[in-house]
Amino acid sequence: MIIILKPNLDRSSAEFGAIMGYLANIPRVQVRVHEERGSQQVLTELYLIGETSSLSTSDMEALAGVERVVRVSEPYRVLGRHKDDHRTSGFEYNGVHFGQDNLNIFAGLCAVDTPEHVEIMMRALRDQGQVCTRMGAYKPRTSPYAFQGHGAACLPYVFELAGKYGMKVIAMEVTHEKHVEEISVALHRTGNPTGVMLQIGTRNTQNFELLKAVGRQRDFPVLLKRGFGITLDESLHAAEYLASEGNTRVVFGLRGMKTNMGDPHRNFVDFAHVPVVKRLTRMPVCIDPSHSVGTRERGPDGILDVFQVAAQAVIAGANMILVDFHPQPAKAMVDGPQALTLDELPYFLEDMAIAREAYERRRDLAARFAASHS
Ligand code: PEP
Ligand code: MN
Repeated sequence: MIIILKPNLDRSSAEFGAIMGYLANIPRVQVRVHEERGSQQVLTELYLIGETSSLSTSDMEALAGVERVVRVSEPYRVLGRHKDDHRTSGFEYNGVHFGQDNLNIFAGLCAVDTPEHVEIMMRALRDQGQVCTRMGAYKPRTSPYAFQGHGAACLPYVFELAGKYGMKVIAMEVTHEKHVEEISVALHRTGNPTGVMLQIGTRNTQNFELLKAVGRQRDFPVLLKRGFGITLDESLHAAEYLASEGNTRVVFGLRGMKTNMGDPHRNFVDFAHVPVVKRLTRMPVCIDPSHSVGTRERGPDGILDVFQVAAQAVIAGANMILVDFHPQPAKAMVDGPQALTLDELPYFLEDMAIAREAYERRRDLAARFAASHS
């Protein structure tokens, strides 16, 4: 059960105290307080965990300071969509809006290799009016002998260059709790020139201790990639681990599934699940065409498969694209064969704008159709 309090209700107010006192007297029910601080208002939600089935929603709705009570029986309690639950989706981070209603593009390096490449990449993004990027510092690799990423050593120059080129959010994978601390320290030491969205990769989707640790911190939002060998339901439960620990600023990432049925793509592209995730949850949905397709092959019409699948997801309403670029793919330390080149950046952005416009027209058409048939 979720109790949604009136906006800006102060924790030191008499109403808040009375609500908490009332809940404390209910046996076998625990209360977790979730607070979301936006630029305009503070929204507080109380999650009741335990034996809530016999509780009356109207009793609670009668308490001063309570806006609404939502009974959740579905499994994704915090991030899911529930009946009569009209809470909006998404969040604001470092001046960028992440929701189910908009699109953000995170083009960048799969793995940071040299400061020169980071700078060339960020300058190209700035010149195209972009404020988000991807920069891998901690790389989970199949072979222990492969390049593992520069780790904490590259963070100072990555953050400084991000500040210089106006990058507001960098998606950066973490594979261990201590990486979050290293990122915080490096941001602090460089004067917080940018923001970071912590990425949990497909190999760690069910690393529950990592999920809990990243869920406990509130400084950074999280991009959780779908596990490449588990069901969608299992991956959505993994997202719920983050939220149940308190961090509800979660974007869910589709990146393809491991099976040879997707050959010759690196993974079986799962972007048909964009509308499914948006229907089941309130999370913005990210797609990663680079790790899904894994090559620079193109069709007879001249369109690269990476562009094709990204457009297919955007036309279906995807909210974020994480895509590999590299100034010199042949020299990339990780995933060069799937990287797009910098001269393809304006072309990629224009192609995605076409797909987004088509999505918006399709959404408006659906609304007109529904209105005329209601
Ligand atoms: C990545 O985005 O760099 C990455 C390793 O992705 P995934 O976890 O989806 O393989
Ligand atoms: Mn990669």
